[in-house]
Amino acid sequence: MKFDSIIIGGGLSGLVAGIGLQLKGRKTLVVSSGQSALHFFSGSFELYNTEKPYSEALREIPRTHPYAKMGADRVLELASTVPDFFSHAGITLNGSAERNHYRLTPMGVVKPAWLTLEGYITIPQDGKFPYRKITVANLDGYLDFHTEFIAASLEQQGVECKLCSISLPELDYLRTNPTEMRSTNIARAIKGDVLGRLAQKLSEAAQGTDAVLVPAVLGLDSPVNAQSLKARTDVPVEFVATLPPSVPGIRTQLMLKSHFQKLGGTYILGDTVIEGIFENDILKGIRTVNHGDTVFEADSFVLASGSFFSRGVMASQEGVFDPIFNLDIDAPADREQWYSALMFDAQPYMHFGVRTDGDFKVSRSGKTIGNLYAVGSALSGFNGIKEGCGAGVSILTALDVADKITR
Ligand SMILES: Cc1cc2nc3c(=O)[nH]c(=O)nc-3n(C[C@H](O)[C@H](O)[C@H](O)COP(=O)(O)OP(=O)(O)OC[C@H]3O[C@@H](n4cnc5c(N)ncnc54)[C@H](O)[C@@H]3O)c2cc1C
Repeated sequence: MKFDSIIIGGGLSGLVAGIGLQLKGRKTLVVSSGQSALHFFSGSFELYNTEKPYSEALREIPRTHPYAKMGADRVLELASTVPDFFSHAGITLNGSAERNHYRLTPMGVVKPAWLTLEGYITIPQDGKFPYRKITVANLDGYLDFHTEFIAASLEQQGVECKLCSISLPELDYLRTNPTEMRSTNIARAIKGDVLGRLAQKLSEAAQGTDAVLVPAVLGLDSPVNAQSLKARTDVPVEFVATLPPSVPGIRTQLMLKSHFQKLGGTYILGDTVIEGIFENDILKGIRTVNHGDTVFEADSFVLASGSFFSRGVMASQEGVFDPIFNLDIDAPADREQWYSALMFDAQPYMHFGVRTDGDFKVSRSGKTIGNLYAVGSALSGFNGIKEGCGAGVSILTALDVADKITR
């Protein structure tokens, strides 16, 4: 089977690369094993953890960082196109390509963010919480949202908080078993009349306050239910991230996938790429678990298989490796250098990943593979957690590589 481009991995970076390639007329296949980091999504994409304007902070970035390979100007140019790119998939993102705003984590911690999904509470760049008096609401029996932590954090910032728990009889069947009372099941149950009743109960509970904060558990495949709850409630409704699984993250994944397919892309889910067929430092094709001897061929390939979390990069007693192509990896052989004994330090292993040249082309035994690129968290040279740049690297390297392939 022959395609123009094949992408290995269908998380954020794989889907953005796939959409970018389809938009430029390339017949593209995405093969993905399963769930991605988006299933754990906070609701905000991060570009870089800084108080400064990005244009200043990005100029100080280490040479090994994927942003440094792109150059600060290119990062900023592509970053400014992202809200529009996502809006074509039906995903509305708020934020600026100049500097961070702030988001609220499920534990009530305020953290910097680049772009935040429509409907979520955000705190502007000046750090001032937008409401003086709020209601923090949960659903009876839902254990992945902690109103007390959120209230404690907001009260420290001078916000007056009222807590409430909403009981909906329609969720009783989920409540009989705590493992069923999870965000994804709640999202399936709250729709139609139930949504109306939730809006009514929230309106009553939030009387006398400026807004109500609720867990982001509405709308698995579209933002319509979340928008409808806002429209039907008497006070402003603002969503806050929950512990995983993330309903808005799953929705983002599904909407990007559906957009890619509408553009003509082919998406194979639940299959794993296991090997590549190389000829003279060019990748000719790949094989997968489910398709046996069938070889999927293409002119160009993109490795978007993630890091340790998605098994795009793995570690054994012998070293760090990519399980598909045996590419060159940036990681020291000495295991003592993998970890810092201080748990909350920046951990060296977070920087490990696939080695690439300035164009994000990978290499095997020191030889560049002319048509195989790597993007997203498979790349080496950055720490997505400490630097707060995980989604930024995924989205921007994917857009950059899609552009390079079609240039
Ligand atoms: C748990 C978690 C939560 C995060 N939350 C945020 C957040 O809220 N905001 C933020 O800015 N950043 C966050 N990040 C950073 C994150 O890395 C990026 O946001 C981004 O989603 C990563 O996308 P990716 O496509 O590079 O990798 P992944 O999301 O890891 O996707 C890789 C995909 O490749 C597939 N795959 C792997 N091997 C194969 C194979 N052999 N064949 C076929 N498919 C394969 C996997 O199944 C997976 O679907 C988070 C990271 C993690 C680990």
